[in-house]
Amino acid sequence: MSMFLRVKCPDCENEQIVFDHPAVIVKCLVCGRTLNEPTGGKGRLRAEVLKALE
Ligand SMILES: [Zn+2]
Repeated sequence: MSMFLRVKCPDCENEQIVFDHPAVIVKCLVCGRTLNEPTGGKGRLRAEVLKALE
């Protein structure tokens, strides 16, 4: 099962929504830091998860 996560960028504290099974690298929209990396399944998160969105 896949879901969306609200995460916080560890560098600039920008909050954004990311998909937990990303097909491409997800970057912070503000500073460009990598937040979630594709692995073929569940992504490798590089950010703090604030909340899982159903
Ligand atoms: Zn950032």
